[in-house]
Amino acid sequence: MATDLEIARAAQLRPIREIAEKAGIPESALEPYGRHKAKISLDFVTAQESRPDGALVLVTGISPTPAGEGKTTTTVGLGDALNSLGTRAMIALREPSLGPCFGVKGGATGGGYAQVLPMEEINLHFTGDFHAITSANNLLAAMVDNHLYWGNELGLDARRIVWRRAIDMNDRALRSITAGLGGVPNGFPREDGFDITVASEVMAVFCLSRDLADLQRRLGRIIVGHTRDGRAITAHDLKADGAMAALLRDALAPNLVQTLEGSPALVHGGPFANIAHGCNSVIATRLALKLADVVVTEAGFGADLGAEKFLDIKCRQAGLSPAACVVVATVRALKMHGGVAKSALGAEDVAAVTRGTANLRRHVQNMQKFGLPVVVALNKFVSDTQAEIEAVQAAMRALGVDAILCTHWGDGAAGAQELARAVQAMIASGRAKFEPLYNDHVSLAGKIETVAREIYHASAVSIPPPVAAKLRKFEEAGFGEVPVCIAKTQYSFSADPTMLGAPEGHVLPLREVRLSAGAQFVVAIAGEIMTMPGLPRRPAAEGIGLDADGRIDGLF
Ligand code: ADP
Ligand code: MG
Repeated sequence: MATDLEIARAAQLRPIREIAEKAGIPESALEPYGRHKAKISLDFVTAQESRPDGALVLVTGISPTPAGEGKTTTTVGLGDALNSLGTRAMIALREPSLGPCFGVKGGATGGGYAQVLPMEEINLHFTGDFHAITSANNLLAAMVDNHLYWGNELGLDARRIVWRRAIDMNDRALRSITAGLGGVPNGFPREDGFDITVASEVMAVFCLSRDLADLQRRLGRIIVGHTRDGRAITAHDLKADGAMAALLRDALAPNLVQTLEGSPALVHGGPFANIAHGCNSVIATRLALKLADVVVTEAGFGADLGAEKFLDIKCRQAGLSPAACVVVATVRALKMHGGVAKSALGAEDVAAVTRGTANLRRHVQNMQKFGLPVVVALNKFVSDTQAEIEAVQAAMRALGVDAILCTHWGDGAAGAQELARAVQAMIASGRAKFEPLYNDHVSLAGKIETVAREIYHASAVSIPPPVAAKLRKFEEAGFGEVPVCIAKTQYSFSADPTMLGAPEGHVLPLREVRLSAGAQFVVAIAGEIMTMPGLPRRPAAEGIGLDADGRIDGLF
């Protein structure tokens, strides 16, 4: 089969104006970026407010393995399949980050015959949103150091500055740096560091904001550091929020692109699913709901991280209520959850697949706890055998859940029509009774414990006394009602990435908590988590280049 890039290149893209027209967006609302990408004006977005909402379908997955799952591919395939059946469907996805693109994972525009296009442009600079977000982050950083330089009127303690710089790249050399070296003209030397742009609080704020006013309000609340006596200093105190919002104004308009089969897709915003909430912008999702009868959207990583945050953070803050949930699984990944090494995935192993379904079962049951009807999309790889596929279906039948074999990666929309019919039926049944997992009034520690017990099946959370004290301080400062954003490894329900399957009775070790006052959540860090990843020994970048015709090669 052709590579993702070869398929993308061979596609005949339609002018973006035609895709917009199909989606009910007039040409006057389009800000074209070339011929195949466009931003949709915020005035148009606002003008749709009073229209009724379509149904929201969440696509999530089992705990990821190096075997690959295909959530984005399935989101696109399902959107195309719904359209092919005559349902007006729209897709809402995150924008890819350059870090994973040049690192291990590659791009994030789907794969095979279920992709969003133009693939190279979306994966690289796209419409410049990440550059705008990086600039807003770094403007604030520059204003922090400038404030120290010009006399530090607000009394910021240079040792208690928490705002870091950002770049959209995996670059471990920038994790910890010393800034301000070189003497008096260069300011005060201090320890600093960079986060990858998708881990910046500006990204989280951007994705959770309802409109420009909300964006500026949230930017202003971002805490940059503390005074010697512990008082928080915000971006608003530094008078940085206005200029940051100005930098972000154009970026906040959602980006319209198309799938291989011509379905409209909004690709906008891209926060990490560990330190942040891992799904596309609220503005894009809400607009899609106004324009389409069904909106298919993806939450990053496994359902314990991405979907939990989508539901407890994004849906809570934006007042969204999903109608159905699709959990993506593959035979290969379930085999790994059943104890098979990556090198041995080629051989049939029904017993391992059956053992691995423990991971899928728990994710399915977790989604049901939110009141959502669930269907499993079994994303078929060519190596899957009939007996292995039936083992997954049997395990799900025992739960009363359908596991539907999907071949959209190889066949496009036709390969996901059965899934699409199941989703249509779930929506029509009106069975969803969405409730977040915990209510706003539970204490912050109580919220963390609820997620740990209910979703991770931990027996307890270990909270060191200084961390517990910090949580109480956040509550005293008026942030007790916000949701929690737990940052832990995506590979396991526990904080130990080697515990695959469905571990029980583990203890979640809380290491640190941070207040994201602008995004309006408390980040609870369990185990080692990275806000600036590194590149692997052989980064994907080594295989990317230009061919003799100047076309981009090697993206995947
Ligand atoms: P996720 O969103 O879960 O991280 P993606 O949808 O981005 O996963 O897919 C990751 C990679 O796996 C892509 O390169 C895609 O082409 C590939 N892939 C997805 N589904 C299949 C499949 N059924 N067979 C082969 N490769 C697949
Ligand atoms: Mg994805």
